[in-house]
Amino acid sequence: MTTALPDDRITGFDVWHCALPVTGRRDHGIGSVEGTIEVVIVRLTAEGGQLGYGEASPWTVFTGTPEASFAALDRYFRPLVLGAKISDHPRIMETARTAVVHCTEAKAALDTALLDLAGQIAGKPVWSFLGEKFRETIPLSCSISSPDFEADKRLLERLEADGIGIVKLKAGFGDHAFDMSRLDYIRRRHPGMALRVDYNQGLTREEALRQVPEVAAFAPDFIEQPVRADDYAAMAELRGMTDVPLLADESVFGPEDMRRAVEKKICDGVSVKIMKSGGLGRARKVARIAHAAGLSAYGGDMFETGLAHLAGSHMIAATPEISLGCEFYQATYFLAEDLLPAPFPIRDGHVVVPDGPGLGMAPDMDKVLKYAVRGPGKRAT
Ligand SMILES: [Mg+2]
Repeated sequence: MTTALPDDRITGFDVWHCALPVTGRRDHGIGSVEGTIEVVIVRLTAEGGQLGYGEASPWTVFTGTPEASFAALDRYFRPLVLGAKISDHPRIMETARTAVVHCTEAKAALDTALLDLAGQIAGKPVWSFLGEKFRETIPLSCSISSPDFEADKRLLERLEADGIGIVKLKAGFGDHAFDMSRLDYIRRRHPGMALRVDYNQGLTREEALRQVPEVAAFAPDFIEQPVRADDYAAMAELRGMTDVPLLADESVFGPEDMRRAVEKKICDGVSVKIMKSGGLGRARKVARIAHAAGLSAYGGDMFETGLAHLAGSHMIAATPEISLGCEFYQATYFLAEDLLPAPFPIRDGHVVVPDGPGLGMAPDMDKVLKYAVRGPGKRAT
């Protein structure tokens, strides 16, 4: 039985755009990240003074810009929320969904903050508003995506020492030989680790037809999004070429895409992300549609802080259809400093689902303000 949403009114709404330093460079098929990642933090205040937080984690080449997330929240969602009851959550989210097109990360942030606030007031974890808790822990996957493979070799040693059992090789940003040599290295030096491959749309159809079967010879768990998001025809063509499951990520944002992907038979599985679907409820719907069609699902992430990782963890805890683990590694293995006041909860290679009120942890506001480039207490830039 799900926990009922409280009737308390929302009286405060604050938004910050933050830029957080990262420890190195990461390359993906569609672009690179270096220097900082940018996220937008929203904080809701209830009439009783309780606080609820949410994070939008956009990436310009994938989901959208931080400026758009900030504007969606600050200008367009604020009037939908101020004065409303928390129990109006379904109506608020439905209105937000149609009030601004796209900006799914901002909608995920709003959904997260409303659920966190509800949890703070009810003294219940976010997952309890979604359904049952189907798992205590979630297997963690970490991505290997530095252009400097020597740095990634050191990361692989660290991951193995930490008990992380899954790695995902980001491919298609260098040449095919670089991908093949890294796959060979990981298979030889880390034979106990489950291995996955993600192209992030990095290949043309012709390149994919040549390269994917060779990569499939390493028998990864799956090969993800070799071609452009909108090239459903090439995805469907590649799907039948090997026994290795083909996953869709950029091709599937929300439930509407998932239905079309099933109909067009473009994939064997899907990466589910609250930042793509526009919230926790819609992410669960994507997983349910996939499962009903016989497809697998795992919990992906964007360039996030631990706050967004927590939201994703609660969503996956309540969604049994997401069976391939998660990749909430950024807070631990990529950020120079996370926004959470304590380490994001990982034990023995698994994310530990929090049971405390709301998300289980609130961001450290000193850190939010330290890294804020726009928002209360900061001059507009
Ligand atoms: Mg991906």
